[in-house]
Amino acid sequence: MTPFRYLAPTSIGAAIDALKASGGTAKLLGGGTDLLMALRARRYAASVVVDTKRIPELSGVNVRADGSFRIGAATPCSVVAADPALSAAWPGVAESANLIGSVQVRNRATLAGNLCNASPAADSVPALIAAGAVAVVAGPGGERRLAVEQVTTGPGTTALAPDEMLVAFELPAPAPRSGSAYLRLTPRTEMDIAIVGCGIALTLAADGTIAAARMALGAVAPTALPVPEAAGVLVGRRLDDAALKALDAVARAACRPITDKRGTSAYRIRGAGVLARRAAILAASRAEAQP
Ligand SMILES: Cc1cc2nc3c(=O)[nH]c(=O)nc-3n(C[C@H](O)[C@H](O)[C@H](O)COP(=O)(O)OP(=O)(O)OC[C@H]3O[C@@H](n4cnc5c(N)ncnc54)[C@H](O)[C@@H]3O)c2cc1C
Repeated sequence: MTPFRYLAPTSIGAAIDALKASGGTAKLLGGGTDLLMALRARRYAASVVVDTKRIPELSGVNVRADGSFRIGAATPCSVVAADPALSAAWPGVAESANLIGSVQVRNRATLAGNLCNASPAADSVPALIAAGAVAVVAGPGGERRLAVEQVTTGPGTTALAPDEMLVAFELPAPAPRSGSAYLRLTPRTEMDIAIVGCGIALTLAADGTIAAARMALGAVAPTALPVPEAAGVLVGRRLDDAALKALDAVARAACRPITDKRGTSAYRIRGAGVLARRAAILAASRAEAQP
């Protein structure tokens, strides 16, 4: 590993100053569960590593008076997964955080690192997209907000400038009778990344038909993939066999996967349809259980 300076600022301003002063050679550290591996393997070098975990505004899961959520960028996945209010409102996001790595990994790893590492297979990203989450980005000019699906631009690349950092995720309050889910297919049950991941959020109307739907897929394209066609085939219908078949078809049609050692392109495409159906059934059952 190439030597680097380690900084642990205690404010967002100080972190941005450190990024700026490095002239683009600094790296932010959340849990370090991706970053340290990459530095060790010399996939990239950093002159400075800026730890985000000592910045108070970047820690914790907060529910606001209107039922919306703010998840600090440096909050460990184990804290996100265990938050009772978030798990009740956005179970898909909580269960995606709970799938990342092992207990030890989740005690360090963050959702910001999961997103900004920009792996197509990152587990929390499809769930966050399905929830309509927004990434709050801070930089020298202040804050800006990006839909989560706008943050990654390709494998390993993001829309953030070198002197910007993600400070939080904002999630809306779910509408009444809403449910969400995240499911993934992996070669092993633990400690492996997804061959396919599917996050979905559904809202039911009083008559049991679907009033709103958001779905995103992971590991089937260079970035996590929103599938707006899911709403087109679900809204206004009951989640019956015909609707599930249509959902399976739009999920498969959206995929642009690679073939690698974990799975062939054809297997990923087939898996995307199956996961979409299963995740929709789970999300609908959660929505039905809401008052
Ligand atoms: C054993 C093991 C198992 C794993 N299993 C899974 C799995 O099942 N599913 C999965 O999705 N991933 C898995 N991972 C990958 C990794 O744990 C996750 O991607 C994790 O969420 C990364 O978070 P982190 O906080 O550790 O990121 P870091 O390693 O700290 O950072 C990752 C990247 O994000 C950048 N970054 C960090 N914080 C910010 C910020 N606030 N603003 C902007 N950029 C930032 C860093 O500079 C770096 O480029 C696994 C890793 C290991 C080692």
